[in-house]
Amino acid sequence: ALALPAAAYMLQDQEAHASQMERTFIAIKPDGVQRGLISEIISRFERKGFKLVAIKLVVPSKSFAQKHYHDLKERPFFNGLCNFLSFGPVLAMVWEGEGVIRYGRKLIGATDPSKSEPGTIRGDLAVVVGRNIIHGSDGPETAKDEINLWFKPDELTNYTCNQEKWVYG
Ligand code: ADP
Repeated sequence: ALALPAAAYMLQDQEAHASQMERTFIAIKPDGVQRGLISEIISRFERKGFKLVAIKLVVPSKSFAQKHYHDLKERPFFNGLCNFLSFGPVLAMVWEGEGVIRYGRKLIGATDPSKSEPGTIRGDLAVVVGRNIIHGSDGPETAKDEINLWFKPDELTNYTCNQEKWVYG
């Protein structure tokens, strides 16, 4: 093996992790907000080691909700879903971390809470698909689009969190 000093190995590790950092859009839907589940849901992302980089409470218009769910416009539940989201308030967030898009979906669980595993947010805290309390981007492209839809660039923070060196090594 190359004889690099320990500090150089650490730097290599940090660079490797930095290049894998990604951001995802997570929203607590009106049912989650009304049921008092904000702190419970945020704490699951926070304790995992992900970093909160943006957060705000929003009452989206119906047309904004339609934009957010445009992929589902042919589905029979589209209208009801957009009406429901527009009741608000919705807690819109951006979370950052290595693998946060895919792992965020794991924390959330399957779309239908009757099929979500126990231990997941929907598995533990929701019962039916129409009231499944949380949204999470399903891939890198949707994450980018949804972050841009819900947040202005200056609402996204960039900061170093001291725990990062303990989370990533
Ligand atoms: P996910 O939110 O897990 O990414 P989808 O993108 O398939 O799932 O659906 C978006 C949202 O539409 C779901 O979270 C749920 O609120 C709603 N939804 C999906 N399927 C149904 C359904 N069969 N009936 C009512 N609402 C549904």
